[in-house]
Amino acid sequence: MKAFEWANAASVDDAVKLLSGSDTKTDPDEMPRPMGGGQDLLTTMKSYITRPPRVVNLKTITGSGTVKSDGSGGLLIDALVTLSAIIDHPDVQKNYPGMVEAAHSIATPQIRNLGTIGGNLNQRPRCWYFRAENIKCLKRGGDTCFAINGENKYHAIFGGGGTCVMVHPSDLSPMLMALNAAVTITGKQGKRDVPIEKFFVLPAEDVRKENVLNPGEIVTEIHLPATTAKSTYLKFKERASLDFAMASVAAAVEFNADKSVKNARIVLGGVAPIPWYVPDVSAFLAGKMLDEATIAHAAVLATVDAKPLSQNGYKFPLTQTLVRRALAKLNA
Ligand SMILES: Cc1cc2nc3c(=O)[nH]c(=O)nc-3n(C[C@H](O)[C@H](O)[C@H](O)COP(=O)(O)OP(=O)(O)OC[C@H]3O[C@@H](n4cnc5c(N)ncnc54)[C@H](O)[C@@H]3O)c2cc1C
Repeated sequence: MKAFEWANAASVDDAVKLLSGSDTKTDPDEMPRPMGGGQDLLTTMKSYITRPPRVVNLKTITGSGTVKSDGSGGLLIDALVTLSAIIDHPDVQKNYPGMVEAAHSIATPQIRNLGTIGGNLNQRPRCWYFRAENIKCLKRGGDTCFAINGENKYHAIFGGGGTCVMVHPSDLSPMLMALNAAVTITGKQGKRDVPIEKFFVLPAEDVRKENVLNPGEIVTEIHLPATTAKSTYLKFKERASLDFAMASVAAAVEFNADKSVKNARIVLGGVAPIPWYVPDVSAFLAGKMLDEATIAHAAVLATVDAKPLSQNGYKFPLTQTLVRRALAKLNA
């Protein structure tokens, strides 16, 4: 690990100041980094993937880590709220059960006690080429994505676009996208709110970044709007214990009084460099009853635009099965 300076931020403004001042660096992996629970950041530092001159501890921000009402039936979740606190929160349990399932599917109780929602959204990819200390892949400033013609069993079937085929590792992100969440970003220029659908960036847009954060900016809050949708998160892991998703599905469905679909949002995880919203499924399901044939067709539609790599064709039937199970579960 490269030597670094440690700074405890007392406030959001303080954190932004401590993170700024190195904007002139050209390599984003050599800029100061914010730290929530450190469950991902420290592993990337130990492998020299990130080499920040300064780590800014956000957990010392006064008043951080709260979940508050937005005054209209939704929730404002501070970026420092832990995954365990999300699982235990009564309003999350009542109105956003998919969030509880997504948070519960992550890692281990110990990691969930320390890991934060802000860190979960901003964690780095798990691609084994990206994570290998001595491999300079495209995403680390090299000129080749080694997974495209290499070991690509866990990689993307959507959105790689011939550039980088990593998959987005966060389990909360697809669920937040299905629930139409928004992210508050704070930086030197002040605050801005970004719908989570616009938060993540594809490798073709900027291969060195996973989201729209500029140097010195941090995520400070996540807004979950009020909803009457039923929600669920289903994840398939290779190991039954802790593991990342080989494929997952976040589903949020609002029903009419006659049980037809008023509005459905399906977002896929573990299959693309960003959480993958499939609008065609929403359009197809609107107004329909969720009978077996409709569910089966929706599942096929979910993967229509996917393109397999040499070793990950299994993600097609896996994803379709998860979509079928999620819709059947919400319809029950
Ligand atoms: C063994 C293991 C298994 C795991 N399994 C899963 C899993 O199944 N699913 C899953 O989703 N994740 C998994 N994780 C990843 C991750 O540790 C957790 O998801 C956790 O939520 C990360 O939160 P953190 O606060 O510890 O992040 P940190 O390590 O503190 O930060 C992660 C990254 O986000 C940045 N960051 C942190 N906070 C902010 C902020 N507020 N604004 C902007 N950037 C920020 C950091 O600079 C860093 O780059 C696993 C990790 C481990 C070690």
